[in-house]
Amino acid sequence: MSLRSRLTTAFLVVVLGPVLVGAVFVAAVMSHLADSRGEALANSAVTMVDSTLGTICERIQASAAAVALNYRNGDQENAVEMAQLLVDRAVVDGVVFSSLASVGTDPGMDIGAEAPQGSWVDCGETVAYAGTEPIVALGAQAEVQNADGSTSVFSAFREVDQEFLARLSRVADADLILQDARPAPIEVGSADAGRWDFTDTFLPLRIGTAATDVTPMYWTLAAMVFASAVCAVALATWLARSTTRPLAELSAAAERVAHGDLTVRVPVHGRDEVAHLAFAFNRMTAQTQSYVSALTASRDQMRGQLGRLGQTLTATLDLDRILEVILDTAMVTAGAEAGVIMLVDVDDADQLRERAGEGDLGITEPATIRIGEGIIGAIAAGGVPAHGRIVDGRFEGRRRADTEPDAHTIVAVPFSGRQPVDHEWSSGRQPVDHGRSTSRHSTELERGRPADGEYGGAPRTDAGVLGVLVLYNRIAGDDFEPGDVDTLKTFAGQASVAVENVLLHRHAERLSLTDPLTGLWNYRFMQTSLRREAERSRRYQRPSALLAIDLDRFKDVNDTYGHPVGDQVLAELARRVTAQIREVDLAFRHGGEEFMVLLPETDAAGAAVVAERLGKAVNARKFKVNDASGGRELNITVSIGIAVLGEHADTATGVLAAADEALYAAKAAGRDTWRVAVA
Ligand code: GH3
Ligand code: MG
Ligand code: MG
Repeated sequence: MSLRSRLTTAFLVVVLGPVLVGAVFVAAVMSHLADSRGEALANSAVTMVDSTLGTICERIQASAAAVALNYRNGDQENAVEMAQLLVDRAVVDGVVFSSLASVGTDPGMDIGAEAPQGSWVDCGETVAYAGTEPIVALGAQAEVQNADGSTSVFSAFREVDQEFLARLSRVADADLILQDARPAPIEVGSADAGRWDFTDTFLPLRIGTAATDVTPMYWTLAAMVFASAVCAVALATWLARSTTRPLAELSAAAERVAHGDLTVRVPVHGRDEVAHLAFAFNRMTAQTQSYVSALTASRDQMRGQLGRLGQTLTATLDLDRILEVILDTAMVTAGAEAGVIMLVDVDDADQLRERAGEGDLGITEPATIRIGEGIIGAIAAGGVPAHGRIVDGRFEGRRRADTEPDAHTIVAVPFSGRQPVDHEWSSGRQPVDHGRSTSRHSTELERGRPADGEYGGAPRTDAGVLGVLVLYNRIAGDDFEPGDVDTLKTFAGQASVAVENVLLHRHAERLSLTDPLTGLWNYRFMQTSLRREAERSRRYQRPSALLAIDLDRFKDVNDTYGHPVGDQVLAELARRVTAQIREVDLAFRHGGEEFMVLLPETDAAGAAVVAERLGKAVNARKFKVNDASGGRELNITVSIGIAVLGEHADTATGVLAAADEALYAAKAAGRDTWRVAVA
């Protein structure tokens, strides 16, 4: 059963029930009242008939008495005249000179109508007539004592006929039936009157009073009940409709929302509870719609960001660019206002240096912070992620450092990636003493030659942390949550992989360009560098000098002490050479025991100074070597040939050949000296 039919039914029961009960009650009262009224009417009709008959009788008796009185006092004829005057003609039909028993004894004395033949009823009777003949008249007699001593009797009468009964009926306002010994009773009025009574008089009259007809009132009542029923049904239908229509609209709207249509709104009628519900529904849907569109927008933004991240990761080895995109993506994902990625500084493993920063929180310079200091420093030292609110510049008991932004919420995830391992290529014959690998790792050139070449991974704190990914000020205004930490761990993992990949790549790249024995740039890189330098020199008309360095009588060293000792000499020579040149200069191992040094922006004179200094650096101190029989000290000298780009040659091969030629010249000049190429 639908809500609408339930409401309609309930309303009808509530409204029509009392109406029906009331109608039944009214009908009962009406019928009772009609009964009472009928009885009262009948009683009053009986009383009226009785009293009217009484009056008529009195007047009949009076007429009879008056005639009798005159008869006694006057003569006969005068008596008749007087009597005619005295008789109450309105009531009395006639008077006869006779006793009731013997009518017409003295015809001369009859007055008025002729005495009817048949049974008379005497007004003096007190009981109803019970004779066997029909009643023809109502009479009364008066006796008079004549002078002669005889007694005369006069009877006044009133004919009891249809007309008499009709008048009586009019006076009593009732129907009458004279019930005597007639075959058919005389009847006045309707025989089917509602109620019949007998009078108490001598005339055996039945008195009928019309019953009150309540049928029209019943019809009226029924019509009223019907009208109210129609009204009630109409009202109930309207009421149920107006109550359930907004609910139906709401339910249809909810159905559409369930199918994903959040644009739906329901009309708000009036200000009742259902209207409030509709209003609340509209507000709820509108809010959900804005949430969904915000979520969709942020999802799209995140998709774009992840796409960018993926592209960046595959397309570039620019670490700062990669970290920037990782930071951007982490910020979009966690909804942060600002963020920073700090890595353990390559130059100082005791501090963190900002490598990517987003959002303006008052720190403009790339920040550094000592490990263990401030909020981030402490998190990096502990190696455990943290999130929460910064109150009065303090977070978890740590005071914010000056280089940290003044934010109110923070989430920070330290990352370590995989722990450094000893790689195969890092355990080879490396001539350089590494010291602390984490602080010595440099992507820059060290005095004209590549960095130490050992790959120990990126610099780390003592706890093994590579860096920290930090986000500030959640945009929604709430604190960051544990879920954000989990999200950031993913990005921090990517950041550590990126750092390691980039460094690994650089290391691999360096390996392909360096000589493992001496750590100097190899022949391949020399070719590239010389070509580039020749091009630059040509374009800018600037000189660049090339030194060709060859050990003197090196074959003897090998032959005397063995090849491994020769190798130690080569490595030591490389160290001494690189110690004597500028950072912009490049030292190469040309092959065997021959080295090249490229001196940009240097002419022949400048190169001669360097050659002189190099020769001194080699021959001034003995070379300490170790062989199977222990440590030795060797005297080593070198010969150096000098050629200048732009002066002795314009090409890489040209300047190489010129430098070699100059080297031969130096050898020829007795060794442990230098010569400049001939122009
Ligand atoms: P010179 O003064 O004329 O240069 O005499 P030299 O003996 O040095 O002659 P040369 O320059 O031709 O020397 C070549 C020698 O260098 C041959 C080889 O024994 C040695 N040599 C070349 N490469 C290496 C190397 O990688 N390790 C060692 N230990 N010796 C090498
Ligand atoms: Mg040689
Ligand atoms: Mg040599």
